Amino acid sequence: MMQTEPTRLLAERELERYDLQAELHLESGLPSFELRRVAGKTVIAAPDAQEMLYGVYDFAERFCGWSFFEPGRDAFDAARVKSLPENGVLYPARKPLLKRRGLIQQCPFDDETPVIFDWMAKNKLNYLLAQMKFYDDLSPAYKQLARERGITIESGHHNFNYWIPGRKYNASHPEFFAEINGKRIESSDGKDTLFLSEQLCTTNPALRAEIVANMVRYCEEHPELHTISLIPNDGFGWCECSECSKFYDKEHKGEFYSLSEHVYKANAIYHDMVREVAARLQKVRPDIQLTFTAYVNYCSPSPDLRLTPNLAVHFAPYWRCINHTIDAPECPVNSHYAEDIRNWCRIKAGGEVNIYEYYMGVHFYLSLPMIHFHEMFHEMEWYARVGVDGIMTQFLLCHWTAYGMNYALMARAARGEEREAALETLFSERFGADAEEGKAFYRQLKKLMTDFNGCHIPYPYSLFSRTTAEQYQAIHASAKALATRKPEDRFRRELVIWTEYFIRFKKLFDEARAQTLTETELDAFLDWIHSFRDMRVFAHSRFDRYFSALRQSIRQGTEWFHFNIDWEDEYIRRQEKTIYHSKRK
Ligand SMILES: [Zn+2]
Ligand SMILES: [Zn+2]
Repeated sequence: MMQTEPTRLLAERELERYDLQAELHLESGLPSFELRRVAGKTVIAAPDAQEMLYGVYDFAERFCGWSFFEPGRDAFDAARVKSLPENGVLYPARKPLLKRRGLIQQCPFDDETPVIFDWMAKNKLNYLLAQMKFYDDLSPAYKQLARERGITIESGHHNFNYWIPGRKYNASHPEFFAEINGKRIESSDGKDTLFLSEQLCTTNPALRAEIVANMVRYCEEHPELHTISLIPNDGFGWCECSECSKFYDKEHKGEFYSLSEHVYKANAIYHDMVREVAARLQKVRPDIQLTFTAYVNYCSPSPDLRLTPNLAVHFAPYWRCINHTIDAPECPVNSHYAEDIRNWCRIKAGGEVNIYEYYMGVHFYLSLPMIHFHEMFHEMEWYARVGVDGIMTQFLLCHWTAYGMNYALMARAARGEEREAALETLFSERFGADAEEGKAFYRQLKKLMTDFNGCHIPYPYSLFSRTTAEQYQAIHASAKALATRKPEDRFRRELVIWTEYFIRFKKLFDEARAQTLTETELDAFLDWIHSFRDMRVFAHSRFDRYFSALRQSIRQGTEWFHFNIDWEDEYIRRQEKTIYHSKRK
C-alpha cells in the first residue's frame, strides 16, 4: 500500500535529481497525472502522490531528454530536450487502461533489487508478484523502497510446499500429501520447483484448516501484506485418494493447447479447495485478498465458481503462441486461451482477473527472440475490453538486452499509451538519431518468425527447426552495422553478442539434431555464453540447467528435442506436425 507522504517527498526529490523545473499540484478528480504549461511554467497535476511521482518521471522522459529504459542506467540525450509552449496541456490525464501492471520476481532479491523497484516506478508499474521464499529474504529497507514507489507486493506463486512443508509435516501428517498409486508421497520440500508435480491431499478437512491457520499466522507476521496466494506446486500429481478422486474423472483429460492432454483435468478439485480456504480466510481476515492460478490442467473455471471480492485469479497462458496475438481466432492455441480468459471474466463477482505473461518466451526460451511490440498494444486493449484487471510478466534483469524492449512497451501499453507514439518515443530514446535503423533491425528479427506462416511456441526447437544459418548471419550483420554507428553504446554492443549467440546456437542445434555434436563442442558453446557475465544478455544458470539435457542425449546417443521430458517432447513432435503449419492472417 502506498504511503502518501514518503511518495510525495520522493516526487520532490526526483524533480531535483533530474534537474526538472516543474511545480507539483495535488488535484482530486483527475484520472491520472497531467502535464501542463501555465504562464511559462510546467505544472504536474495529479490526484495523488503516486500519480504525482509518475508525472515527474513522465515529464523527464517525454520532454526533458531523459530515458529510463534500462534499470539502473538512466540516460540523458540533450537532442531529445523539447521546447515547451507558454500555455497549454502537454500531456493530458487519462485513465490507465489496466489497473494492475507488474513484474513477476523470478530470482531471489539481491543488491539489484533497488534498481528494479526504481525502474518499475519510472515505467508506472505498480505490482510485484514474488515467490514466498524470496519474500522471506526481502529486507525492510527494500520493502520501504517498494512502498514509497507505490508497488504492491504479493507474496505467492507456487506455494503448496510453503504452506505445508515436507520437513514439518512428512512425519507427523503423511495424510496431508497426495496419494499416488496407493501410497502417500513423501514431499521433497520443493527442492526443485520446475514441474515438481507433488501436490497435497486437498480434500482433507484438517489439511485445509491447517493451511488457513498458517495463512492467518503468516499475515499477522507480515502486516504489510494484503495479497497472498494458494497455488499448487508446479506440474501435475494430484491426489488419487478415494475422497479426492470424486473431484475428477480420470477419463476426462486436459487439452492439447494447455499441455495437459496427458493428464486429467484438475479444475474441480483445485477450485473446491480455493473456495473453502478463501471463505474461511475471509471470516477472520476480510482485508486479505487470496489469489490462485489458472494454468495447464486447471486453466478454465469450474461451473459453479465465482470470483468474489477477496479472490483474484492469475491466468498463465503457458506455451502460448507468440506468432499470433492472444485473441487471434485463427490461432489453434491462443484462441482457446482467449476463450478461457473470457470465461474467467464472466464469473467476476467483485474479484479480479490478472494475466500472468511470459514476455520473454518462457523459462527455457533462453534469450531467443520474442518481438511482441505491436502485439502487446493490441493485447492490452483486448484485455481491457473483456474485463481483465491486470497484466504482469516474468522477467530477469540479466537478459534485459534480449527482452527489455518488451518490458518497457508492456508498461506503456498497459497504461493505455497510443501505440505509434509510444514506439516512436522508445526507439528515439534507445537509438537516438539511428531510430529508423533500430526499427529496421527489430523488423528483421520479427520477420524471422512471421516468415514461418504458422504458430511459434517459445522453445528453441520451434525456432531453429524452421530457420537457416544465413538468416542469423544477416541479422548479426545488421546488429554490427547498428553498433558501428555508435561504438560507445553498450546496448548496441550487447545486440551484437545477442545475435552472434543465435548463429552459435543454430549451429549447435543442427549438429545436435544430426547427432554429430560432441560434449567438447557443447562445453565450448557454454564457455562462450559464460564469458559474458557482465552483459545483460543471458540468464547463465538456466543455460547450464537446460543444456544438461542435451549433454545427457549426447552421452546416451538419444534424439534431442528440448529438456528430455517425455511428455513435453511428445507435445513438440505433435505441434511440429500440426500448429507449425497453421496459417497466419
Ligand atoms: Zn486425497
Ligand atoms: Zn498461433
